[in-house]
Amino acid sequence: MTTANATTPKWNLIIDLDRCNNCNNCVLAVKDEHVGNDFPGYAAPQPLHGQPWLELKRAEHGQAPIVDIVHLPAMCNHCDDAPCVKAGQGAVKKRADGIVIIDPQAARGRRDLVDACPYGAVRWNEELQLPQHWIFDAHLLDQGWKAPRCAQACPTEAIRAVKVSDAEMAELAADQGLEVLSPELGTRPRVHYRNLKRFTHWVLAGSVVTLRDGVEECVEGAEVTLSHDGQVVARAVTDAFGEYRLRDLPAENTDYEAQVVLEEQISMIQRVRLPTSITMGSVTIIIQK
Ligand code: SF4
Ligand code: SF4
Repeated sequence: MTTANATTPKWNLIIDLDRCNNCNNCVLAVKDEHVGNDFPGYAAPQPLHGQPWLELKRAEHGQAPIVDIVHLPAMCNHCDDAPCVKAGQGAVKKRADGIVIIDPQAARGRRDLVDACPYGAVRWNEELQLPQHWIFDAHLLDQGWKAPRCAQACPTEAIRAVKVSDAEMAELAADQGLEVLSPELGTRPRVHYRNLKRFTHWVLAGSVVTLRDGVEECVEGAEVTLSHDGQVVARAVTDAFGEYRLRDLPAENTDYEAQVVLEEQISMIQRVRLPTSITMGSVTIIIQK
């Protein structure tokens, strides 16, 4: 293992889930770089089919007609306290720049390394009898590239690579509200997510209409709040279709009180139990003349 201190610049990835549109460019860029290409000392060729080194995970929140779909690009996290490095006994190395490399020679036959990764980021190459993962395109960065190909290929800049000290990264994470996957594992990942709750947390969605003289109309601009134990935990305003989405709700079966406020009048209060993300029906507000 190569040593580094807190001031050594190291690679990190920042992924904003709100910017990911599921275009798959990042997945294709990794395959384009690695399928059929051997980079000695870094990675043997990636199989064409299956075994994705970068994959897009998908979460569906709610039910028709209002469904929130969120995609999460997932890959090796290049953990600072990596179980794969410990299990590798020399076959997996942590570089001074933060990148973890499964040695394509020393790791041959080491199927146990697939199970060593708690994120499922190590894939087994049956043909080569080799555990493999996304190498952060270390072979390109070592030639002076400024970012791995997945970041370069992303049209929305949902993926960004930054090479900064640990202190600078901690500051960035605090400023931008970045989170890592499964922090409770204590592996200290170098892949950080923005808006991670869009994927991990629940959504309550619905719509608001008015009924006036027997005519129903979508309501734009109604305020919908969700409270728990008297505290407002989420707030949203209906859009031009009268729809609202209360996001980032804890993924726990919880009782809430929903309230709709239209033109500064409380128009509806309803108790809601959330066993998962749900789409409620329309709330109809009857307007008397
Ligand atoms: S390239 Fe960017 S926008 Fe497209 S799927 Fe990947 S992360 Fe999402
Ligand atoms: S995500 Fe898995 S393979 Fe990658 S460094 Fe962490 S433990 Fe190792």
